[in-house]
Amino acid sequence: MLDVSNLSVRYGRHLALENAALNVAKGEIVVVLGSNGAGKSTLIKAMAGLVRTEPGAQILLEGQALHKLPAHRIVDAGLALVPEGRHLFSTLTVQENLMLGAFLPRTRAHAQDSMERVFAVFPKLEQRLSQIAGTMSGGEQQMVAIGRAMMTCPRLLLLDEPSLGLSPLLTSELFKALPSIAATGTSVLLVEQNSHQSLAIADRGYLIEKGLITGEGTAKELLESAEVQKAYL
Ligand code: ATP
Repeated sequence: MLDVSNLSVRYGRHLALENAALNVAKGEIVVVLGSNGAGKSTLIKAMAGLVRTEPGAQILLEGQALHKLPAHRIVDAGLALVPEGRHLFSTLTVQENLMLGAFLPRTRAHAQDSMERVFAVFPKLEQRLSQIAGTMSGGEQQMVAIGRAMMTCPRLLLLDEPSLGLSPLLTSELFKALPSIAATGTSVLLVEQNSHQSLAIADRGYLIEKGLITGEGTAKELLESAEVQKAYL
């Protein structure tokens, strides 16, 4: 359902991403593993239309050419981004933050159903609807950020380092929610440094190093690979 090829991004003279290619099937969870500065956020931002890609890049979501669309149309086409650092409206309540995700005309009418889907994945949020988002713990805020993205009824959810700043226990709780999102048919692509916990819930993965995709495999293959063990585990 997602097919990316020939994706390059330059910041001035620095080539941060070089001819990246990857794909994600419907309902699949795919992780891109890389260390600091490898190009993970750049990859995610390029797909979401937030940085300019070099000519020749192709990003197809169920056949729609995202690389030809501005960022707001990309959301409408079914791609939702949960940025690194979450970017919640910290003085607004959980409910207000979630509802901001339902801003598109095509999603506003289904906001109540979407909210129910968010509660099915994150039951805690239903009890915290009136809590000010900024007063929640890091893990809870990440749930709100993912919930807000789910409110756009995405075909593909992009997560930029969701485990950042979370304890292994909170990360595990958060990651356990991803298979239930994928089971509803929404594909999940996450970029992570936390290989152990992300590979535990992913179907497949890619390795990215200095802007280049250097490996790929099933989650099991990557967990057992000597290269991954050495670099990340
Ligand atoms: P981290 O895990 O630290 O977030 P990352 O894998 O997400 O790292 P990117 O943020 O994609 O890495 O950065 C890839 C490279 O591009 C790095 O060398 C970074 O310094 C550089 N870079 C990122 N954004 C910009 C920018 N706006 N201008 C110039 N260089 C940038």
